[in-house]
Amino acid sequence: MSTSSSRISGFHNLTMTERLEKVIEVAGLNPDVSDHMGNTGNLAAEVADSMIENAIGTMNIPIGVATNMIVDKQDTLIPMATEESSVVAAVCNAARQCRDSGGFITSMSGSLMIAQVQLVDVPNPEFARLQILEHKAEIKQICDETDPVLLKYGGGFRDVEVRVLEGSHTGAMVITHLIVDTRDAMGANAVNSMAEAVAPLIAKWTGGRTYLRILSNLADRRLARARATWTLDAIGGESVRDGMLAAYEFADIDPYRAATHNKGIMNGVSAVVLATGNDTRAVEAGAHAYAAQTGRYRSLTHWEADQDGNLTGMIEMPMPVGLIGGATKSHPTARIALDIMAVKSADQLARTIAAVGLAQNFSALKALATTGIQKGHMALHAKNIAVMAGAIGAEVETVAKDLVKLGKVRVDIAEDLLNKLRG
Ligand code: NAD
Repeated sequence: MSTSSSRISGFHNLTMTERLEKVIEVAGLNPDVSDHMGNTGNLAAEVADSMIENAIGTMNIPIGVATNMIVDKQDTLIPMATEESSVVAAVCNAARQCRDSGGFITSMSGSLMIAQVQLVDVPNPEFARLQILEHKAEIKQICDETDPVLLKYGGGFRDVEVRVLEGSHTGAMVITHLIVDTRDAMGANAVNSMAEAVAPLIAKWTGGRTYLRILSNLADRRLARARATWTLDAIGGESVRDGMLAAYEFADIDPYRAATHNKGIMNGVSAVVLATGNDTRAVEAGAHAYAAQTGRYRSLTHWEADQDGNLTGMIEMPMPVGLIGGATKSHPTARIALDIMAVKSADQLARTIAAVGLAQNFSALKALATTGIQKGHMALHAKNIAVMAGAIGAEVETVAKDLVKLGKVRVDIAEDLLNKLRG
């Protein structure tokens, strides 16, 4: 490893190629690296450079398409960007098994985002709360004037709410929530600008000081919902159903299990969020905060048996995604992913992603309650191990098959198999 300094003056002023050369020099890399990193694939270097700071290249992640999904009676192809094997197959399998019972039915609570303004140094916080609420009309005017384009598309300010919180060091804080309909935008920039515009007036009206002015990622006014029914025949009978219900209940009562259960849901959700150029961290933060809203971290899905004994599943979670803004517009692959899904609104995109999360959870619960998760993972995992061992081209398939046959998917065994294969 190089011992050169990470203090590289003027790094951000360099071109992307110059930055890469600099990194190769400072990190002491093989100069061949510049050929690999210089190939930005299907994201033009200029676009990558304009998306983030200090860009030196791009990183490709496979996009798979999940088939079989019916969402609100419409057959829908699901583009999923993920590096993890079995994620796309899980959605395909779950969707196939509920096709005969109609697929997924979805709904949405609305497209409302929340921006928070933190006010401190007010001796009479409850009094200040009412002072702020009295200015609702003025707050609306300021918010709407901040984003006339959003207004044109039917969005804009909807409501103001004020909460008083007690900080153990800072004392009373008066927290104003601006509730804004952001329509087809995820809305972070939109609501942040509104919070910044309103904050000085809140300070003036109350005599306090405002600090933070930023959206909340707990987007609980933007809940996407999906439900589906799997017949006993489709899933393989009562014992499979009961195993899945027991697996669900385990997640709902134990945060150690719930974290993994919800991670599985996010395997599906984040893959579509990423493929469509949306903000994976915003959706993930919202999901986990929402899962803990009762005071205990719980399952994002719920599973029950219906009157005929069939398995019914539902999911409800914050889904702040957009078709406008961020990388959804600037990344050409994201535009194509949206075209593959044929979604017409951010609302439809959010609902479809919720259905994918439910599908993913169905497959994980079913695998766990029956054969165990590793069996389904093995074939694809074996390919990764074969690549790790140095297999290329047709060798990958051959080594992977032999690993699965041996029941030992290990890199040392893959290396032995590869050596034998190459004579
Ligand atoms: P944006 O500001 O790029 O675009 C949204 C704007 O587009 C709207 O404000 C509106 O003026 C306009 N618009 C045009 N047509 C519209 C339509 N049909 N519906 C709604 N608006 C329309 O993007 P944004 O959605 O405000 O912000 C999203 C970006 O912010 C993401 O890239 C995200 O990563 C980033 N971000 C996230 C956080 C966070 O989650 N904590 C914080 C800051 C920034």
